[in-house]
Parts: sequence; C-alpha cells; structure tokens
Amino acid sequence: MKPAIRKIALERMQILIDNAITNARIDPELSQRQAFLARRISTRYKIRMPFDLRMVFCKKCKSFIAPGINSRIRIGRASIKSIRISCNLCGHTYRKIIPK
Ligand SMILES: [Zn+2]
Repeated sequence: MKPAIRKIALERMQILIDNAITNARIDPELSQRQAFLARRISTRYKIRMPFDLRMVFCKKCKSFIAPGINSRIRIGRASIKSIRISCNLCGHTYRKIIPK
C-alpha cells in the first residue's frame, strides 16, 4: 500500500472519530455510524488504529463508547500513570498504562 493512502485513511479515521465524539450527545445514531465507518476503514486498509482512536471502542462488546457518555474514564492516582476505561454498555473495564 502506498504511504499516501495510509495517511489519508488515518486522517479520515481521525476525523470520523472526532465527529462521532462530538455527535455522541446530540445525535447518537449518527455518531455510531461515524464510528462504524472509521472501523471499516481500519479493516479495509488493514491499518491499526492509534490508541487514542481505539480507546473509544469497548474491547469486549466492540461498541463505540464516547468518553464521558457511554464510558467512564478515570486517571489512576498511583505513581504509575494509568487510565481506566469503563464501558457503560457491557460493564467491561480495562486499564491502560500511559507510557511517558
Ligand atoms: Zn462494552
């Protein structure tokens, strides 16, 4: 695959996720659709989503979970910086250590 295509696909995913997060509160149906499209780009072009995009999808039920709406994000207070993301749809929580 040409690097240019990869770059465009990544940009499109980023825009779709940004819009999905913005629309989650006002138009949940549209936001689900935008998130779905972003995931489809990732599958079609075999591009792994960067972490900041992947974190809006539940690892367990694969739903789009908008931060603060369908999911709860908590920053750990320990010396090791970590975040915990809980999915409000299936209740799954996962933890991610933030590398410095
Ligand atoms: Zn879930």
